[in-house]
This record gives sequence, structure tokens and C-alpha cells, in this order.
Amino acid sequence: MNRRVLSGIRATGRLHLGNYLGAVKGMLALQADPNYETFYMVADLHTITTPYDPKILKENVREVILDYLAAGLDPQKSVIFIQSQVPQHTELGYLFSTLVTVARMQHLPTFKEKVKQHPENVTMALLNYPVLMAADILMYKASLVPVGIDQEPHLEIAREIASKINSRFGLAFPEPQRFATSGEYVPSLTGEGKMSKSVEGSNIGLSDDLAAIREKLAKVPTDSGSGNQVPTEGGVATLLTLVELFEGKEKTEQYRKQYQTEGIKYQDLKNELAEAIYQELKPIQERRLEFENKPEMVDKIIEEGNEKARQEAQKTLSEVKQAMGLI
Ligand code: AMP
Repeated sequence: MNRRVLSGIRATGRLHLGNYLGAVKGMLALQADPNYETFYMVADLHTITTPYDPKILKENVREVILDYLAAGLDPQKSVIFIQSQVPQHTELGYLFSTLVTVARMQHLPTFKEKVKQHPENVTMALLNYPVLMAADILMYKASLVPVGIDQEPHLEIAREIASKINSRFGLAFPEPQRFATSGEYVPSLTGEGKMSKSVEGSNIGLSDDLAAIREKLAKVPTDSGSGNQVPTEGGVATLLTLVELFEGKEKTEQYRKQYQTEGIKYQDLKNELAEAIYQELKPIQERRLEFENKPEMVDKIIEEGNEKARQEAQKTLSEVKQAMGLI
């Protein structure tokens, strides 16, 4: 039997390089492998666990679908769907919430981080986020989940829930593992923390043109360009990580040596890096335009994906309800 894969991205706007390198590239790699059946969703129910604008939520869902298709997710190979359109997810999430304690959820570093970001919005749904994510994954019996390293604590919860439900109710869910890419942690352009949608000036968008990429890289803080120790944090470290991801390991090694000898000219590094990033994004941007011009085709892809996902989801939900004594 083919192994299953599930991944999703929240609908908080258009994707950036962190989403692309940490999640989408892994999604593409597994989609290309005939040993896997791939399920990729837009996680709109997770989006509403933090403050959001209901007027633009649907638009943002569409943006993620378009970015998925533009990046190369293929409806012939993957089930592409919208989380809220498969109501089984919330039902399974509720059933799973009977298996985990409040204390376990409150101690998760991801929860604590969100509490710090939005202290006025610590809702039940936010606490339950990892439980719903476990339902997303286990719904399709997925054993691999292509997501960034920041999601590891949530994968741990999914494994705990799988193990509990198997031992208490005699089911056979796989304990899902994260599928890591080389860009599992893309640092912020500010030099502090990770690249994210919510931090202004931290990211490069998949839709940025060469001028925008140049402008953003120009703002990355640097140093004098030479010294004994190549920085492992801050703006210079971010630049070297991006060089490695877009221009290869050898190029990074060259820059490292240069740093410790004659010195790096950051303007040249940034120009070359901007070109390399744009070369990778250009075909994605061109494909996006094609999909934008065929809205009916995109509607059909979403409708068919939702329907396939609902069918699969119902099988698992019935199995769990039966095992838990509900039907
Ligand atoms: P989110 O926008 O939080 O729903 O994230 C969607 C996906 O992108 C998840 O798999 C994250 O782990 C991944 N991701 C987000 N930011 C980064 C980053 N800076 N580096 C690597 N992966 C990331």
C-alpha cells in the first residue's frame, strides 16, 4: 500500500520563501514519488485561531491555492483541498481532544509563543490547534508530514495521539514523522528569528520581482565583511543560509573563506543572490499568472479535491467513532 502524506499552510496571505523552502519543496518532492499518496490543504480553520479579517479570509485561501498550483502542486497527483470544506476534520479533532490534557497543550513552546504574540486572544481553539492538526494528519493515516522545523512539537502531539488511540481503542494509526527539507528553518532578513508573514521586513514573497528582492536584500544588516569567525547569527548568517539554499554549498564555502581572508563585498553577494532567487521564482510567477487567468479551472480543482478528501476522511471518522463506541 502507498504511504500517505499530509501538509497544509494557513491562509494568512501569499507565501514567502520560508513556506516555500520549508514546506512546499517537501510537498513537491513527495508528490513526485510514486510511493506516496499526497494530500495538501489550505488550513483555514487554523488561520482563525489568531486575529484575522473575515472579509479577506476566502481571498487568502485562494491565494494559497494559486501559490500551490504555481509552485507545481499537481491535482492529477495530489489531492488539493480546503480544510473547512471537509467537516470531518473538526469532528475528529473533537474526538481526539478527549485524549490529551490541557496541561500538555499549555506547555507547548508553540502555544506559549502565540500567547506572547496575542495575549488578548488566548482561545480554546488556539489551545486545541495541535489536536486539530493531529486530526488533519491522522485523518488520512499520513506517515509523513512535509513542514518546517517549527512544527516539530505539533508532530510530537500527533504521535502521542496516534499511540493513545491505538492502544486504547485497538486501531492502527501510523505515528507520523516530519519530512525535512534543506530549508527547514529559513531565517529572517532582519537577522533575528525566522522568516515569517507576520514580521514586517522579514521575508521575500514568492511573488516578488527582481527589484523587490534586491531592495529587501539591500536592507539585510551586515558587518565589515571580514574576521576570524564567520557569524552564525544575524544578517550575515541569514545571507549565507540563503546563498546555500539558492546557490549551493560550494558557493557558501567560498564566501566563508573569503570572509576569513580578503573579505566579502556584500553588494556583490546580494546582487548575485537576488538573481539566483529570482531565477527560481520566475517560472512560479509565470505559472501563477496562467492559473489566475483560468478561475473556473481552479474552482474545479478545489471542488474535486474537497470531494476526494471528504470521501477519504469519512472512512477514518467512521472507523474512529465505531472504535470509541459512538456508532
Ligand atoms: P504557516 O504559515 O505558519 O501555516 O506555515 C506554513 C508552513 O511553512 C509550515 O510547514 C511551516 O513550518 C513552514 N514555515 C513557515 N515559516 C518558515 C521558515 N521561516 N522556515 C522554514 N519553514 C517555514
